Amino acid sequence: MEFSELARVFQAIEATRRRLEITALLADLFRRAPEDADILPYLLQGRLGPPYATPDLGMDERRIAQALAEATGTEVEEVWRRYGELGDLGLVAEALLPTTGEPVTVRAVFADLRAIAAASGKGAQERKIALFRDLLRRLGARAARYVVRIAQGRLRLQVGDATIVDALAAACDGAPRAPIERAYALSADLGLVARTLLADGPAALARIHPTPGRPVLSALAERLPTPQAVIQKLGRVLAEPKYDGLRLQAHKRAEQVWLFSRRLEDLTHAFPDIARAVRQQVRADEAILDGEAVGYDPRRQRFLPFQQTVRRRRKHGVEAMELLFPLRYYAFDLLYLDGADYTSLPQEERSRRLRDILREQPEGILHVAPQLVTADAAELGRFFDETVGRGLEGLVVKRPDAPYHAGAREFNWVKLKRGYQRALADTFDLVIVGYDRGRGKRARLGIGSLLCAVYDPEQDRFRTVSRVGSGLSDDEWVELRDRLDAVRVDARPGRVESLITPDVWVEPTYVVEVIAAEITRSPLHTCGKVDAQPGFALRFPRVASIRFDRRPEDATTEAEIVRLYSLRA
Ligand code: ATP
Repeated sequence: MEFSELARVFQAIEATRRRLEITALLADLFRRAPEDADILPYLLQGRLGPPYATPDLGMDERRIAQALAEATGTEVEEVWRRYGELGDLGLVAEALLPTTGEPVTVRAVFADLRAIAAASGKGAQERKIALFRDLLRRLGARAARYVVRIAQGRLRLQVGDATIVDALAAACDGAPRAPIERAYALSADLGLVARTLLADGPAALARIHPTPGRPVLSALAERLPTPQAVIQKLGRVLAEPKYDGLRLQAHKRAEQVWLFSRRLEDLTHAFPDIARAVRQQVRADEAILDGEAVGYDPRRQRFLPFQQTVRRRRKHGVEAMELLFPLRYYAFDLLYLDGADYTSLPQEERSRRLRDILREQPEGILHVAPQLVTADAAELGRFFDETVGRGLEGLVVKRPDAPYHAGAREFNWVKLKRGYQRALADTFDLVIVGYDRGRGKRARLGIGSLLCAVYDPEQDRFRTVSRVGSGLSDDEWVELRDRLDAVRVDARPGRVESLITPDVWVEPTYVVEVIAAEITRSPLHTCGKVDAQPGFALRFPRVASIRFDRRPEDATTEAEIVRLYSLRA
């Protein structure tokens, strides 16, 4: 397909907010360009690869503007002047380039952008500018608008993973969604899924399995309030401490190790100590472990708070951080072992095999989460108290016969946390979709309350549930405002449903952990709103932390809020 054709589809997507229309446009796109199925999902999300291997173009605005000036024979000052006027370099490119360009395929644009990203070393910036200039010269106005936005990381078509999955099903004459979802959850690569499906048909999706070097979407936990409720719902259970750190998936193939976050980023560089431990302590040629990295003070034999653990994610000064904040990695699941996909095996068997392949060392970094097997609520309660007494958050309780359902939040795992027994005192992960500038003292900071939303995975929509205006220090508010300004958009993003219009809309990007006292019904919010019925809101919310480790799609779901409300009403 030619890129100008794709640009037309981008424009049509931008012109509608309706999910069904977007799905139909995408299904049609996949049908018309099956040969590009492997790269279209990336481009639709403004990326040059799957989330765990997306190269960065490495060009800032200044250099993009420079390339644009050179490509169009315009003075750089003129490019900046127009940028100031239009507020979007994509629109500037569109205005400066001729309506039609040369025929350039989607694949050629993708390859050029990858080549720009790959340019490194001495003189890389000049080469990047030259390559981008040459690409722009060949493009027509509309194509240039979108290529510039992709280069800037600002395509923002609001096409979520779930929408692409739906579109792929529709493109194959309504193939069932479940095998597509499964393949995506096990590979985290929609390009691979689309190519396999469109080239070889739905049956071929079964070939997609976990593979070292490619993350699997994390299974997530539901919550219940008491040990009694857990035993009543699950019967005999495997209970493990809930470590409050950073979820990490550890992959090993011979001597090579990868560590992936729940956001599917490759964080191997940040945790050389854990990578070493995986190399030394995992007795297998190939394996994928799921687990939690948590800060640990060996002198006091105490776990460190989450905030200290995540400071280890920094890219610089890794070695100093290693000494300052030693980590332990608690493995709690085994998803793949020496060529075999373990995700469909029962939990009990996965846990057993995990113990078999780990060389436990008392002073080592890598440990297996200890497990209590019980069907007795009183015994589970004692284990809970003992675990909380050791400074941990609570328990994750698991169904012995359940598979590992990648990417799903189900009752196969149930978290039981401190404070559940009291009122609500629980936290929710909410997505920031906008903010108000604030009044009085807060006007000085330029930010008052955040407009926050939950996620509806069925519809791929964010619905508002709370305005949150407390919990951070002045400095933290200002820092957050700066981050939000970098993702601000002019109008309500397509995936957001809201009755409130904040002073500033932002692209759903950041997740905040919010503590609230209660869930109430409210006509102001769209979470759980059906027809004329009011929606749901959180009362007395405050920000507990900013969760850079979460994707917007990992946020608390709308269904969870509705269920918690029904439990408490
Ligand atoms: P929370 O904010 O309560 O940690 P969450 O949204 O991070 O919730 P959930 O899936 O709801 O994630 O809760 C389980 C989380 O607990 C996992 O994502 C994982 O990071 C962490 N965890 C710690 N110990 C365990 C364990 N033994 N088994 C499974 N998950 C564990």
